Amino acid sequence: MFIKVENLIKSYTTGEITTQVLKGVDLTLDKGEIGVILGPSGSGKSTLLNIIGGIDRCDSGLVEVDKVEVTKLSDRALTDYRRDQIGFVFQFYNLIPDLTVGENVEVVSNISRSPLSTDEILESVGMADKKHRFPKELSGGEQQRVSIARAVVKNPNLLLCDEPTGALDFEASREILKLLQKINKNFGTTILMITHNSAISAMANRVYRVRSGEIVESSINKTMISAERIEW
Ligand code: ADP
Ligand code: MG
Repeated sequence: MFIKVENLIKSYTTGEITTQVLKGVDLTLDKGEIGVILGPSGSGKSTLLNIIGGIDRCDSGLVEVDKVEVTKLSDRALTDYRRDQIGFVFQFYNLIPDLTVGENVEVVSNISRSPLSTDEILESVGMADKKHRFPKELSGGEQQRVSIARAVVKNPNLLLCDEPTGALDFEASREILKLLQKINKNFGTTILMITHNSAISAMANRVYRVRSGEIVESSINKTMISAERIEW
């Protein structure tokens, strides 16, 4: 078991109102798998992903990633875990506007530890020819390719994607999903991805459906389809 989440509970307090956002979530994913988390807006998907990735803390429960008990880590160790083990991809790319494509990949990742050069990773996401462009000169799909390059250049143990196609049209979405599938296959990177679109679950090994902070359905796909063949 590569990811093990057990009875995860998380509340947020705003003023005098405390809301339980995760109400005892269980989830597992094996090494090298693609997992998809589906669910409506506000159901707790990002909170779950952020706790797995060490961006946020839970109130109680267990998160284990590659034998590391993430929920027990000190703040310092959690920062190291996030930097060394996790790649994050967000809906709105989160590139630094003042930096070129190449600089965005180099600055944010711990490039000295990277098994891949900037040129190699940009080549593998199809952005080698745009290395000296700035984010605003790129389409949404291209910006997402750069953010994926930035996330995977350090060869993370786990790639966490929060609605990576949420801001893209169908064709650009398909290209991003094909790229994620290629990274999973070529680098063996375990991927956990949030999406609104249930069609995307056809390319996952495991699918979790969240509603109001609870997993209401989980399934294992015996066969996965290529992102090329996803029907929207
Ligand atoms: P999803 O990603 O499924 O849309 P989120 O995990 O972002 O859902 O949010 C779940 C709920 O938690 C929402 O009601 C949201 O408003 C609330 N929430 C998320 N982050 C915070 C925060 N930092 N402070 C207070 N409430 C939050
Ligand atoms: Mg979200």
